[in-house]
Amino acid sequence: MENWPVGVFTSIDAGLGVDLGVARELGIPTIQIHAPHAGNRSADSAAAVKKRLDEFDITATAVFGGFEGESYADIPTVVKTVGLVPEATRQDRLAEMKEISDFAKHLGCPVIALHLGFVPHDSDSQSYRDVVEVTRDLCQYAQGNGQSLHLETGQETAVALVEFISDVARDNLFVNFDPANMILYGAGEPIEALNQLGQLVRSVHFKDAKWGDKPGVEWGQEVRLGDGDVNIQQYMETLKAIGYEGPLTIEREIPQQPQRQKDEIGHAVRVITNIRDKMRTT
Ligand code: MG
Repeated sequence: MENWPVGVFTSIDAGLGVDLGVARELGIPTIQIHAPHAGNRSADSAAAVKKRLDEFDITATAVFGGFEGESYADIPTVVKTVGLVPEATRQDRLAEMKEISDFAKHLGCPVIALHLGFVPHDSDSQSYRDVVEVTRDLCQYAQGNGQSLHLETGQETAVALVEFISDVARDNLFVNFDPANMILYGAGEPIEALNQLGQLVRSVHFKDAKWGDKPGVEWGQEVRLGDGDVNIQQYMETLKAIGYEGPLTIEREIPQQPQRQKDEIGHAVRVITNIRDKMRTT
């Protein structure tokens, strides 16, 4: 595959991504998939998805975990509900991530990914060490399936994420960089963060957003690619500078407005291919 193939974040039966059929209609060659609900993750279910992907000539580049009970309603709710950080659900969700890793293996997909949640800030605390430990456990399982684990950015600053990954100390742990999340969560300037994460970035989202009035306290606003504060041209140039050549995966999370979602993903494809094709020739 050529460098920088366009991708799109899709959902089968869960999550905020677009339907697989839209990826096909728009001629997008790679996808990330939001893992299906528990109960739809068997080898047979995976085989059915794989068959569809093969028919469409689409490659799955990452399977994202997501869980019942997660809510992105506002930042405090994310702290309480998202990822492997909340203790009450941690072990159940770890077991689910292992199931998702198996599902991804059946798809022939070498990457699993997730929002880990808000990692505790005090790296001397027991709660921090527990999150390191659960991440190691999942890395080891993914390794057994020949996979890497990518942590979605947003909740942490780039510096905190680099430290966390260094503390976990597993060679299949990397970053799925989402520039819009840095803005939405108020976790730092995206271009600066991308430079700080550098070689740890092994998959990316193309999503745009505007800074909120109170970064880190209230959400910024997700907008159409190119209309926000990311600066897509500079984003692409920075990806090139850090040596990233993988898929450019569009994420647009407005499934309640399917026509608008499709139109804006189509727009994003044009924005990206314009910039990319010029960069390929220079
Ligand atoms: Mg994202």
